[in-house]
Amino acid sequence: MHQPPIPHVAGTDPEVAELIQAEARRQHDKARLIPSENYVSAAVLEATGSVLTNKYSEGYAGRRYYEGQQLIDPLERLTVQRAERLFGVDHANVQPYSGSPANLAVFLAFLQPGETVMGMALPMGGHLTHGWGVSITGKWFHSVQYGVRADTGTVDMDEVRDLALRERPKVIFCGGTAIPRTIDFPAFAEIARETGAVLVADIAHIAGLIAGGAHPSPVGFAEVITTTTHKTLRGPRGAMIMSTEERASAIDKAVFPGLQGGPHNHTTAGIAVALHEAAQPSFRTYARQIVANAKALAEALTARGYSLVSGGTDNHLILIDLTPQGIGGKPAARGLDRAGIETNYNTVPFDQRKPFDPSGLRIGTPAITTRGLTEEHMPQLASWMDEAIAAAAKEDEDVLDRIAGEVRDLMAGFPMPGWSQ
Ligand SMILES: *Cc1c(COP(=O)(O)O)cnc(C)c1O
Repeated sequence: MHQPPIPHVAGTDPEVAELIQAEARRQHDKARLIPSENYVSAAVLEATGSVLTNKYSEGYAGRRYYEGQQLIDPLERLTVQRAERLFGVDHANVQPYSGSPANLAVFLAFLQPGETVMGMALPMGGHLTHGWGVSITGKWFHSVQYGVRADTGTVDMDEVRDLALRERPKVIFCGGTAIPRTIDFPAFAEIARETGAVLVADIAHIAGLIAGGAHPSPVGFAEVITTTTHKTLRGPRGAMIMSTEERASAIDKAVFPGLQGGPHNHTTAGIAVALHEAAQPSFRTYARQIVANAKALAEALTARGYSLVSGGTDNHLILIDLTPQGIGGKPAARGLDRAGIETNYNTVPFDQRKPFDPSGLRIGTPAITTRGLTEEHMPQLASWMDEAIAAAAKEDEDVLDRIAGEVRDLMAGFPMPGWSQ
């Protein structure tokens, strides 16, 4: 049953209640390995489902365009303070609706349409919103994109520097969605300084690792830091933009009134609770366990003959190149899902296959670590993955269903916040 319980939804709208309950069970039964996903605590769920959703609060604390902010102002101030303290930044804006609008606000703050932005190419591990062609950030701005080296699978800082010196971008993004290695913030900062660009670190994937001390922080190197709140940081769906004092007012103006209307106060409350949780010593243990699990899983997969982009991982994420297995990422991901192991297909750098049918599988450990799995479970997980991928190639559904049952039995031993038997 969903936690907190949803008797009112069930009474008013059984159809929706049933879908919510079934989704809760699905999340409980599967080994969820999508690296951008997690399980939020019941406390975060409660805050996010509160009456704060009823309130309009355009503007910032003390400068609102609606009355009745006696309690929203202190809530937003508290959330901002917690973000500033946890990450050690001068300024935080907690209003962006999600990661994509947060990044768009950065464009609005520092670029005119047609001006140059530099980011990591999507198929190399970057994010759509760092100037990729199909995104508004690539259509309305002049975008130059860097990648990774074919031999190492990691960013070539010499290439980044040459490109920046030649193109003189006003903004440089570092960070992405499929980067299994530590991001070299000092090296990016040096290039930004040399070329006069604003460095933006998009830490959407690794914010929780940074908060928990399991990845170096961009603070002191990137003037602007964007992040989602719902990935490793384990909060509700939302985002934050953090910055130096100097960049604060441009960021605030870009978020509101530049891009958005009223902030989602229920989300702000959920972010506040998540930031409080992330400030506890237990979150440091969590962040380190995410990385320990990812390393153990990477090792177990390598031992079974899997080829990992960059040869392994430093963080929560593993990018598998399935070329040696002779199966595409898409059929593999579909087979794995049937086997109770949820992943997503992904391009690998220099992919020989098409973007809709790429060679890669992207996996990560934030969600299973929240459930309580540790290094000792990773060889079993790798073994199931290997068996399921082979079964997917042969379309052997009996094997996939058998594995799904075994995965369910394992996961039943690990409580899920948001669900109870
Ligand atoms: C997930 C992600 C985003 C976008 O976040 P949404 O909330 O999905 O809009 C932006 N940047 C990076 C690096 C991400 O991983």
